[in-house]
Amino acid sequence: MDALEVKSIAKTLGADLVGIASAEVLNAHPPDPKVPQTPDRISPHCKSVIVIASRIPVAAFRAKSSVAVQYMDMLVLRRMDKISHRLATRLEEAGHPSFVTAAQETDWDYKRASYGRLSTRHLGVEAGLGTLGLDVNILTPEYGPRVYLTGILTELELEPDGKTTEQVCIGESCSRCLHSCPTDAVEHFNLNKRACAQAAQEFGFMTSLALWEAMVDGDATRKKELIASRDMFGFWQGMLRVVGSFGDCPRCLAVCPVGNDYHAFLAKPQKVIPEKTPEKVAKAQAFKAARLAGEPVTGLSDHNKRWVGEEGYQGIVARQLKGFKAAQKKRAEDAEQPGADT
Ligand code: SF4
Ligand code: SF4
Repeated sequence: MDALEVKSIAKTLGADLVGIASAEVLNAHPPDPKVPQTPDRISPHCKSVIVIASRIPVAAFRAKSSVAVQYMDMLVLRRMDKISHRLATRLEEAGHPSFVTAAQETDWDYKRASYGRLSTRHLGVEAGLGTLGLDVNILTPEYGPRVYLTGILTELELEPDGKTTEQVCIGESCSRCLHSCPTDAVEHFNLNKRACAQAAQEFGFMTSLALWEAMVDGDATRKKELIASRDMFGFWQGMLRVVGSFGDCPRCLAVCPVGNDYHAFLAKPQKVIPEKTPEKVAKAQAFKAARLAGEPVTGLSDHNKRWVGEEGYQGIVARQLKGFKAAQKKRAEDAEQPGADT
């Protein structure tokens, strides 16, 4: 079994994107060396990590509320788990021990805030699927940040794809993710996770903790109030359907202009960003000025630049848009040909 065959199986099983990262490279480049999210902390036998991405259907980002994205998120994650499980099984049947990492799971012993055993977005970069954006989402050229990723750890040595060195994110001159963020969590190729969690994990662990603390400390009247509160309902719904626990806020995903799905279906409905304020515009301009002046930027440090794209932005979105428009024009011309649709 070689890399080509593995990728072909993954695609046949339903993966939208697939890439391969070398475990050795991942072990040598942990996102945070103080708390390394590396394959060797999970298994000393892992040689390669197969990274698959599943896109979130674009229609959900055209809906009036975030509920459509929240529900699709769950369905996409379940489907992705099934695809990766089947791929791991196929590898095992061929004699190569393999297993899947939990894509969205915090390891309490690593860090206590949305910190998994592996960082799927960094896996994606190392497998050549994209680069990290201003908001630290992984941006794939095909679907921008509107994807979920997972990794299959295998003992099979596979040809790795190598990471992309061209920055996929347009950067400070775009800053649409920053403009759209309801909690102003987007920093300079960095993210204020606590601020993001206010919108993205409305009924996540910290909200649940606060609710239970209030229950323990409250008198009988307060306890009764809490039992019938919105937070209790959110907690129950999160337990039942995961909705509200994470991925609750779709705004930075919806407005990111990378990907043909954006050009085709989101450019119009997402053109205007209602959350944009003069303060956010000034913040983005300050980021741009800092970069032009060569000031130190944590998100672009020598260590972090690896995942943003060392070559900087070279116009990938403009090239993509040109190709998209040419294909659109050709489709229209073909449709006008006599005999079309007959
Ligand atoms: S998910 Fe929402 S809150 Fe978090 S960074 Fe994106 S826009 Fe901001
Ligand atoms: S919205 Fe713009 S700045 Fe933000 S991640 Fe996407 S391309 Fe980069």
